[in-house]
Amino acid sequence: MSAKVVNADVGATDVAVAATQPASSGFVAFDPGKTNLFDLDRVSLEDFFEQTLGEKRFRAHQVMKWIHHRYVTDFNDMTDLGKALRAKLEQHAQVRVPQVVFDKASTDGTHKWLLGMDPKNAIETVFIPDKGRGTLCVSSQVGCALNCQFCSTATQGFNRNLSTAEIIGQVWVAARHLGNVPHQQRKLTNVVMMGMGEPLANFDNVVRAMSIMRDDLGYGLANKRVTLSTAGMVPMIDKLGEVSDVSLAVSLHAANDELRSELVPLNKKYPIAQLMEACVRYALRKRGTSVTFEYTLMKGVNDQPQHARQLLRLLRQFDNAVQMKDAAKVNLIPFNPFPGTRYERPDDAAIRAFQKLLNDAGMIAPVRRTRGDDIDAACGQLKGQVMDRTRRQAEFRKKLESQGLGDAA
Ligand code: SF4
Repeated sequence: MSAKVVNADVGATDVAVAATQPASSGFVAFDPGKTNLFDLDRVSLEDFFEQTLGEKRFRAHQVMKWIHHRYVTDFNDMTDLGKALRAKLEQHAQVRVPQVVFDKASTDGTHKWLLGMDPKNAIETVFIPDKGRGTLCVSSQVGCALNCQFCSTATQGFNRNLSTAEIIGQVWVAARHLGNVPHQQRKLTNVVMMGMGEPLANFDNVVRAMSIMRDDLGYGLANKRVTLSTAGMVPMIDKLGEVSDVSLAVSLHAANDELRSELVPLNKKYPIAQLMEACVRYALRKRGTSVTFEYTLMKGVNDQPQHARQLLRLLRQFDNAVQMKDAAKVNLIPFNPFPGTRYERPDDAAIRAFQKLLNDAGMIAPVRRTRGDDIDAACGQLKGQVMDRTRRQAEFRKKLESQGLGDAA
């Protein structure tokens, strides 16, 4: 493991974000009078060129390539733009990169960044390389309000939504670090909106950011290589289907309402039947669409044979409803314990038995390897540092103290 700390003071509930960044970081200080071009997808950038700068719309394309393909943020370095246009851009716009508070590389190639979004809030972004692919796990909110019981992010409470610029800024920082060249030297092949936060609770900003990820002038990722993961905000799944063709993943974790409502409180509002109907509608929009169901295995909670059989039944019903074999994909994720949690990771034999039950019934059910263990980059371990306005973090710490674990978190 290597840890690089960039002039930062990172506390448990507060982040003093670095006042300065290395000249090479692309960091630009906040200027409220200027439009951050990370906020604009192709159409809104074309509008900005036409309406604000009085320029031809196609000029926006040149600027998008400079920013997202070549990682240039200084307008003076955009050498195929005329001097007058560069001066106008300087006056009205900026490309504001999130501050890298620190980044860590794991021995298995996983890389994690803590990115400062404002003087009080930071979020985490994780890159996970695997055979032939490189996946970036992107956050959509600072903290999360949904309070899933097994989730480390949930213990941090919720502070605010991230802007489009703050979401796309995560992709920019990672892609630049990797030396990613869209369409040529692709290091970043997939993005999953699976970091901190519920992406569908920040709908407009997430959808605009995903449009930049998929644009040839942005990061050029195919629709199926951008995945949005939701805890099950049913009306917003339908809304997503109206505007986007990205891959859908659902954090399921239990196949009966009683248990799921305990693990994912949102289930009380949108129970499993409603959630599955929304997934069916999403899949039916376009022939051949599958939906991935994430199932975190917790010892003695949801890892028993009857749970596997319930899951199987539910996912087979989904296949039948969309009339496609293997339309439902399932990922089994062994729980990653964090300090103070009451849940445990099942032993390997229990994980294998659960998987075998699904496999024997013809369902492919990969067990996701835990990656980035040495840097806490695993699923459900993204915490960041947030100012907790819900007081949940204080309550969580009180609970730890009462268990004699006061210094553990
Ligand atoms: S699992 Fe996802 S939706 Fe649930 S609390 Fe954690 S970040 Fe939020």
